[in-house]
Amino acid sequence: MSKWSDFKRDAIFVGGRWLDKASGGTIDVTDPATGKMLGSVPSAGVEETRAAIEAAHAAFPAWAAKTAQERAVLLRKLADEILKHQDALAELLTREQGKPLAEARGEVGMSAAYVLWFAEEARRVYGDVIPSPWADRRIIVTKQPLGVVGAITPWNFPSSMLARKIGPALAAGCTVVAKPASQTPYSALAWGILAEKAGIPTGVVNVVTGDARTVGGELTGNPLVRKITFTGSTPVGKVLLKQAADTVKKVSMELGGNAPFIVFDDADLDRAVEGAIAAKFRNSGQTCVCTNRFYAQAGIYDAFVEKLTAAVKKLKLGSGLETGVTQGPLIDDKAIAKVEEMVADAKAKGGAVATGGKRSELGLSFYEPTVIAGATSAMQFAREEIFGPVAPVFRFETEEEALRLANDTEYGLACYFYTRDLGRTFRVSEALQYGIVGVNEGLVTTEVAPFGGVKESGLGSEGSKYGLQDYLDVKYTCIGGI
Ligand code: ADP
Repeated sequence: MSKWSDFKRDAIFVGGRWLDKASGGTIDVTDPATGKMLGSVPSAGVEETRAAIEAAHAAFPAWAAKTAQERAVLLRKLADEILKHQDALAELLTREQGKPLAEARGEVGMSAAYVLWFAEEARRVYGDVIPSPWADRRIIVTKQPLGVVGAITPWNFPSSMLARKIGPALAAGCTVVAKPASQTPYSALAWGILAEKAGIPTGVVNVVTGDARTVGGELTGNPLVRKITFTGSTPVGKVLLKQAADTVKKVSMELGGNAPFIVFDDADLDRAVEGAIAAKFRNSGQTCVCTNRFYAQAGIYDAFVEKLTAAVKKLKLGSGLETGVTQGPLIDDKAIAKVEEMVADAKAKGGAVATGGKRSELGLSFYEPTVIAGATSAMQFAREEIFGPVAPVFRFETEEEALRLANDTEYGLACYFYTRDLGRTFRVSEALQYGIVGVNEGLVTTEVAPFGGVKESGLGSEGSKYGLQDYLDVKYTCIGGI
């Protein structure tokens, strides 16, 4: 049995070599549940980032030239290695990120599921033969891997966000330089260890930790990188889009959300509350598909608030390593300060705290799971992502009003609604300007379905057959003189 510490590597992974020193010094990593230092990792500068890009570039031709079947076999081994070490990887994840161990285990399981899915999809990169308008010429369309991919990932899903990028990239025949968030570098560096164990050739997967601007600047500026895939906030996504424009890189962007969760009068309220807990409080509210705004129709408003509050009171806050804990700490001081600011703003504008509403006695960045009734559009969380365990409940009267409020945001990632009316199910899901819609479901992510947003929530899809297309170039070949 492997231990979590077997996967804690204080070194960056460049061209198959582990470097324990880098030009940018080091980055300290803290366990958010204890406030204690977990370790420190090298901070890569331009030099090491460039070396990683060059290693990925050097590895690309041979990796791309492998048959899809050969790549699929190696990806299956990678998925097997992840599952073999699921417990160790989960504990490492909880220690650096804070989420409950059960959730961390689930996330690592999802990582394996993504890799396995893309191992299977690798063999289904079909082209086309298009009927030609010329009698003497033929038109053939093929798909080719686009080259070196720069993958920048956040701290909320430090393992599976990389699986969604490394999985399709490798399946398509691309090579990768990954840059994880500095709060959670270990789960990303573990991908280097896993790639080695699976026998993925040297240079195909590289992982560098370091200052975001320095590493990000090189990844977006270097002409050898042909695609940037990013998961994180909308403001940073916009910066990366601008930077990537100079060398016209392909981009995939999974950005912020402001998910509405609409509960209509005809909903199954118990089911809605169950979905609400999953959609709001998973990872202590720190996911881009977490509900930001609950809209409850007037007829069930009070009952929904009451039932939601009762369910939230049952959540258990504590260290993710403790049995029974469902809510870990927030990632850092900045995160808890933002939540405090939003709750203070809501209170000042007439919001009623039904439960929680303050920091926990546990200290550090533990915040009590919170429900706020009487939420209004004037409150900060109507517009901004909360990224914390706070559930504001807004009241609405009609379906039309709910749709107008739900769509009144520049974001368009996930949304949810609860109804038992079939006509409404179609009407509302078609009218919601979102990339992901959960109807009577609060948890919809799976590797087989496309995950992605519209409007300022992003570009492209991850997972599913669509997720693979984003790593391929389309080539049109015209054969004449027939
Ligand atoms: P979050 O709010 O989830 O921390 P960010 O968008 O700030 O989201 O961070 C997501 C990822 O983007 C992290 O890996 C972070 O280090 C990286 N990042 C942040 N700023 C930049 C930047 N200017 N250039 C490149 N990467 C960045």
